[in-house]
Amino acid sequence: MLDTPVDYDSLNAAGTIMGSGGVVVMDESTCMVDFARYFLDFAEKESCGKCVPCRLGTKQLLQILEGICAGDGRPGDIELLEELGRGIKAGSLCGLGQTAPNPALTTIRYFRDEYEAHIYEKRCPAGVCKSLISYYIDPELCVGCTLCLPSCSSGAISGEFKGVHVIDQSVCTKCGMCIIKCPPKVSAIEIISPKLELPKPVLEEVA
Ligand code: SF4
Ligand code: SF4
Ligand code: SF4
Repeated sequence: MLDTPVDYDSLNAAGTIMGSGGVVVMDESTCMVDFARYFLDFAEKESCGKCVPCRLGTKQLLQILEGICAGDGRPGDIELLEELGRGIKAGSLCGLGQTAPNPALTTIRYFRDEYEAHIYEKRCPAGVCKSLISYYIDPELCVGCTLCLPSCSSGAISGEFKGVHVIDQSVCTKCGMCIIKCPPKVSAIEIISPKLELPKPVLEEVA
């Protein structure tokens, strides 16, 4: 879609708006569900409350998105977001409510697989949603330089100089500081977002 003309109608057809003309560039390390949650949080706070679809609808959209990011997404959430979003757009008086659902609707339109990974596999492909990720030190790569130790304010990392370091998952707050400190040439710390086994009833419902 890089050839999309930057004019009102073309952007509108693509599911976005011209706004103030700003362009945000993101790569695969941005979670599209978290991205939608961020903008819905803004819209929900900005709603003046005059009309119900915007006042309560943005709140509902935000709650669903927060739930998906927290790992509590349920089958049917995507469809509910779409239905709510369409209703809010149609029933809101001004431009804020009429465009507030766009971040959710458009990310579902182009990145539905990311929503499905969060809901059905309890996995954040971008490695952003804290409830769905873990930080691990690869014992094959760790050289025991100890640089990550002082960066961990929660004391989750242990290890001796020149020895393999480990992260205590029960203490880790997933702040991400250690991954910044590990030398790029080593890159021993990785973000894991494992695919979880789902209970059989859920799998049957998804199928
Ligand atoms: S759509 Fe506009 S007028 Fe209606 S509640 Fe939202 S901000 Fe207020
Ligand atoms: S993510 Fe934060 S809390 Fe967890 S091990 Fe790394 S520095 Fe410590
Ligand atoms: S910074 Fe990286 S290489 Fe050094 S001890 Fe920590 S995990 Fe191992």
